[in-house]
Amino acid sequence: MRILLIEDDRMLGEALVAALSGEGMTVDWVRDGAQAEAALRDIGYSIVLLDLGLPDADGLDLLTAARRRGSETPVLVVTARDGLDDRVAGLDLGADDYLVKPFEMRELLARMRALIRRRAGSAVSSLTTGSTELNVETHELAHGDASAVLPAREFAVMHALMERPGRILSRAQIEERIYGWGEEVESNAVDVLIHSIRRKLGKDVILNVRGAGWMVAKS
Ligand code: CA
Repeated sequence: MRILLIEDDRMLGEALVAALSGEGMTVDWVRDGAQAEAALRDIGYSIVLLDLGLPDADGLDLLTAARRRGSETPVLVVTARDGLDDRVAGLDLGADDYLVKPFEMRELLARMRALIRRRAGSAVSSLTTGSTELNVETHELAHGDASAVLPAREFAVMHALMERPGRILSRAQIEERIYGWGEEVESNAVDVLIHSIRRKLGKDVILNVRGAGWMVAKS
């Protein structure tokens, strides 16, 4: 998971990088508005931690510009400003949450996890495990050397499986994910979809767990 940290305070920045790296996250740390502006154009981040008081820019301006460009990456504002006006402005401009310094690292981590969970699927453009990657925007599935753009229901099956690699989904759980309420479901519909995905990408793209269901391997 890649995190963009926009923070000019060296001590706080170093502490955050250490804490987040310790949680297994990859942190890109930028310290001024110019670098932040460029980094915010990268859509590969799971979350952005944004300090409002930067030496050459106001974080709220950076946030406004990013949202105008259509960026959907969750933004957690981390700042010393504690005025009510600033909080309201930050949320109005597209911040997803707000944390006032000084804060407990545990609270920051909990809020980050909540934001990532809330946005999973909409802010992340692809799900990956091992050599398998599903692009949730183009619906292209790549597995080893093979790739294919999946039709809607095959995509829905893969998306359900790829959200939690290593977790088994039963036939009923998959049907629940791909059919709306009241829709007629053929008894072998899931088998047909999985057969079709395997035919395009290779048999081992989805693993069959006899009597239980299907899963994708956890990398
Ligand atoms: Ca600052």
